[in-house]
Amino acid sequence: MPPEPDSALSAVPAAGSRRGLPPAGVLKFFYGPMDCGKSTLALQLDYNHSRQGRRGLLLTKLDRSRRGQITSRMGLSKPAIEVDGDLDLRRLVRDCWAKGRRVDYVIADEVQFFSTEQIDQLAQLADEAQLDVYAFGIATDFRSRLFPGSQRLFELADEILPVQVEVLCWCGRPGRFNARVVNGAIVRHGATVVVADTAETDAGTDADAADASGANTPGSNGISGTDAAAPAEEHVRYQVLCRIHHRSGDLGPNADTDPALPLG
Ligand SMILES: [Zn+2]
Repeated sequence: MPPEPDSALSAVPAAGSRRGLPPAGVLKFFYGPMDCGKSTLALQLDYNHSRQGRRGLLLTKLDRSRRGQITSRMGLSKPAIEVDGDLDLRRLVRDCWAKGRRVDYVIADEVQFFSTEQIDQLAQLADEAQLDVYAFGIATDFRSRLFPGSQRLFELADEILPVQVEVLCWCGRPGRFNARVVNGAIVRHGATVVVADTAETDAGTDADAADASGANTPGSNGISGTDAAAPAEEHVRYQVLCRIHHRSGDLGPNADTDPALPLG
């Protein structure tokens, strides 16, 4: 009895069999609030892949160090390419190939600041260049609205994974939202990216020492940048809150003494 036309023994595979198609890479989005360990996980993932001989391309944007590297709160860091506003990530990979450098996977940190076009480019790299793409970022801004880059990842990613290290609100509930606090009060309007008032010191050499020691280094990552600068008389910081307290604006009993947290 001849095989059925769409059976595994058929000479001509039926449509949808995937035979003859190049395998696509995977696009994964790991998301969580600031300080939940995303950058640490990104560096661990890079380590796990590179030790098996895979070649990675590390990208970041407005990292807390602002020195073209992925840095974690745990004191780890690794050089990364700073993604400028309109950098074409497909061209970036092609340039690597042209130099004879293999690229097996991409690790992109701080993807909330990537443009939607750049997220589309990451998906294309997965589909057409068979790269595995691991994206790490914050889902929502201080207004609890999705960052455009993160929204695009929720739309496109093959897998969407919350980073499992919980950051707690002052009340003990899981912290899910990054509140912007100006002069001791939560604000819900303004530029998406605002420099925290202590960001200046973060770019100095003391910042790494503070990071490595586990001290809180205020400012910079995720919230600092050149988009907008807070007026000098305003004290700007960020605080992770649960949904209830983000909505109510209650910063807790120690609101005045809580250290400022960088996004990331
Ligand atoms: Zn709470």
